Amino acid sequence: MAGFFHGRGIEGASAHPCYTAAMTPPTHDAIIVGSGPGGATVARELARHGWRVLVLEQGSAAPLAGTLAQMAAIAAIPGRGLYIDRDASLLVQGVTVGGSSAVNFATAAAPPAALFAAHGIDLSDALACLRAELPIAPLPDALVGPMARRIMDGARAAGFDWHKSDKMIRPALCRAGCWRCVYGCPFGAKWTARDFIEQAIAAGAELRDKATVQRVLIERGRTTGVAFTRGGRSHLAHAGVVVLAGGGIGSPRLLHASGLRAARSGFFSDPVVAVMGTVDDLALNADEVAGAEVPMAAGVRFDDDGISLADLALPAPMYQGFTLQAGRVDRLFAHARTLSVMVKIGDQVGGAIGPRWVSKRLHANDRAKLARGVEMARAVLRHAGATQIFESHHFAAHPGGSVRIGDGVDSALRAGAHNLYVCDASVIPGPWGLPPTLTLLALGVRLARQLAAQGPSC
Ligand SMILES: Cc1cc2nc3c(=O)[nH]c(=O)nc-3n(C[C@H](O)[C@H](O)[C@H](O)COP(=O)(O)OP(=O)(O)OC[C@H]3O[C@@H](n4cnc5c(N)ncnc54)[C@H](O)[C@@H]3O)c2cc1C
Repeated sequence: MAGFFHGRGIEGASAHPCYTAAMTPPTHDAIIVGSGPGGATVARELARHGWRVLVLEQGSAAPLAGTLAQMAAIAAIPGRGLYIDRDASLLVQGVTVGGSSAVNFATAAAPPAALFAAHGIDLSDALACLRAELPIAPLPDALVGPMARRIMDGARAAGFDWHKSDKMIRPALCRAGCWRCVYGCPFGAKWTARDFIEQAIAAGAELRDKATVQRVLIERGRTTGVAFTRGGRSHLAHAGVVVLAGGGIGSPRLLHASGLRAARSGFFSDPVVAVMGTVDDLALNADEVAGAEVPMAAGVRFDDDGISLADLALPAPMYQGFTLQAGRVDRLFAHARTLSVMVKIGDQVGGAIGPRWVSKRLHANDRAKLARGVEMARAVLRHAGATQIFESHHFAAHPGGSVRIGDGVDSALRAGAHNLYVCDASVIPGPWGLPPTLTLLALGVRLARQLAAQGPSC
């Protein structure tokens, strides 16, 4: 994605029948703020309907290289991609074209129908279209890594109904013995929202990366565009429709900066603990490398309890971070022999996203849930033959629920001003605990269809 300026310029608006001399005519039909799964989907669908679409993304469009340095720039700069709370818990998000999907683990989960039906939302048709189009399927056995296999054997021996998960990965482009999807797959094997952004551009959309939206412009009660900074300069862009898709942290901040929401928004984060244990007899196939595999190849969900478990092989630097955080210096160099099981819970909405900070302490119920999950993970590891079992501190990568349907937006995703919408993880209506990407794509398809049916707006 080297050349990212495409199509029409921002300046040079012509006279527009819906705008008086005092108002600013639009240069685009829709501005999409943020290029993660929610924003990329809306951008692609509207561009395909012939809308003039401008995508503004604060991160970079540099091609994904699959390196530690690039991943750190995307998701480990404190206050940008990484938030460290006072209790030392970490919250991670991707700031780049494609948002967190660029560095995520590519696990797909269907939206929980009942949660959305309670708000009159049916995502089944959008979901069927996405499933028909995207590479969503369990990994073929040849791509399930040696640690995931060993953990699966242990889990089944412990009595868990442990199965391969759907992944958004093109098996023909994925290779055994590789772990680079976690840093940003450079081989095109992992689906990311960059795929939709590229298709949006092919359909005529413009993408401006390194463009940080500061606030939404509202004139006489109607949304008219956004103010953004790029290259140290301030700019305005005008459109009849603005869709905020800055993610679970970005969108509530923008609403607040635009005078449309209070300064603090509660949120969920789907906290995770990695439970680790050592084995000395890992069985490798010829093309495999110990510790190098696609994470979350398989697992088990307890939806009623809001707990899920999965294998979680991570690159050595991340594993070493966990060992240091847990004070297990003795395990620092055991990466190639250490099985890791992820415990994830759906936590209560709470804490606060502020204008410049994010803070969330786990409720006692959530701590108890995590503790139950950790006990299950320990049983899995013991049945897999692991010893030296220890766990990380909790961390999280799914900030959402901060502009919830039924609270911050209505079921049409309208947010507080005429022709202003939100479409990203922030609108998820309640506690979650699932991989959100596929749900956000479905919400994006639904919103774009709704907007396209209305037609470009004045
Ligand atoms: C390590 C990790 C692993 C994960 N694994 C999985 C998984 O296996 N499966 C799954 O489904 N999900 C997974 N997720 C979560 C998933 O990727 C996110 O929930 C999803 O990407 C959220 O999509 P979104 O549309 O809310 O926007 P985001 O992906 O959050 O993207 C929002 C974008 O908006 C931009 N932005 C924000 N504010 C502004 C602004 N003011 N101006 C301009 N741009 C702005 C940001 O830079 C960002 O690029 C994972 C996440 C991480 C970090």
